[in-house]
Amino acid sequence: MISVKKALSSVLNNFNWEKAKEMPLLDSLGHVLGKDIFAPDKLPRFDNSAMDGCVIRSQDTKRGKRVLLKIVSSIFSGDDINGLLIKRRETAQIATGAPIPKGTNAVVAMENANVKDGFIEIDKKISKGTNIRKAGEDVKVGKIVARHGDLITPGLIGFLSSLGITSVKVFAPPEVGLIATGSELACAYGRIGKFQIRDSNTSSLVALLKSAGINPVFVKRFPDKKNTLCKFLKNLKTHSNIIILAGGVSVGEHDYVKQELEKFGVKRLFWKVSQKPGKPLYAAIRNGTIFFGLPGNPAAVITCFYLYVLPVINKCMHKLSIHLPKTFAILENDVKTDECRTVFLRARYKNGRVKLLKGQGSHMLLSFSKANSLFMANPGKHYKKGKKVQIFLL
Ligand code: AMP
Ligand code: MG
Repeated sequence: MISVKKALSSVLNNFNWEKAKEMPLLDSLGHVLGKDIFAPDKLPRFDNSAMDGCVIRSQDTKRGKRVLLKIVSSIFSGDDINGLLIKRRETAQIATGAPIPKGTNAVVAMENANVKDGFIEIDKKISKGTNIRKAGEDVKVGKIVARHGDLITPGLIGFLSSLGITSVKVFAPPEVGLIATGSELACAYGRIGKFQIRDSNTSSLVALLKSAGINPVFVKRFPDKKNTLCKFLKNLKTHSNIIILAGGVSVGEHDYVKQELEKFGVKRLFWKVSQKPGKPLYAAIRNGTIFFGLPGNPAAVITCFYLYVLPVINKCMHKLSIHLPKTFAILENDVKTDECRTVFLRARYKNGRVKLLKGQGSHMLLSFSKANSLFMANPGKHYKKGKKVQIFLL
């Protein structure tokens, strides 16, 4: 049996995979850029008005005395102003974002322009450039605007769209296959035999993968029967970087998963981790694919996914932080574990306080349905109510 820390470094150090791939910009949220991006255009694209107002020649106001300018045109956003020239003592009404016509160099805000009988009255000096957004003031052509390793945020997606960029190179999510094993398993919907149980593990795992931006390449369910798993893997046509199995890795007579995987030719990384839930966790490698044999108990599946599978996925995708985020919280319960294993307890975190949930058995999912955090209790330690502790946020 190895420690949580050793198990985690074993999976992270023994599995390396990354692939940069082009992806539509609108699908790329949350991914990490695999390549620097250079601006193909400047921003703003042309000089334009920062205000609804009147566009003028600042020279006409240089004396700082009352002056009347004749309104000769109206310019709206999107108007083509080629050929339009504003002459001495002339002005045009202009909308925010509309292009600045030839001859002009400043915009007077609507509220400061006294409009009367087709003229505007200005009684102070307006300096050149007032209320004008200059072409290229934000971004020049060729500038590096995003770098390899940057996280794609909604702001970056909007920004890249303004430059006309519609696809980006990102670190691809790994291909993940899912297999649930257990002769007792029935589909989560539909008919069920008296002594069957519904397969919740595939549902949890599909949802967990989805939250990491992954759709599994296959989802299968097998009974605890020799040769089925090995045969399936041998005939598999699609490549997976990660194969997650749930159930059948413990010491039961019908727990064939390790045996079947090893018949298939995997190299074992470890079996059994000093933790609760999820002690029989198994990990192995074959031809660049990592196999996670998660213990079938539903709470163990979810806990082990968060602790071991997710960091591996995040590493492939070059995420900045690969582990669950942590925060401090005040414990609302006393926690005492007599275990010589590390215990992960489902908890509910709110307003800086954390409450451990009832029903911590590894077969119990109700608590996970309410949990938004995990508290890691070290072996044999007593944590008093009111103590400030660190928790993992789910
Ligand atoms: P195992 O790891 O196969 O010994 O299974 C441990 C416990 O988890 C048993 O009570 C199983 O019935 C249960 N279990 C295994 N697979 C699933 C599953 N896919 N969905 C829900 N419970 C499961
Ligand atoms: Mg089983």
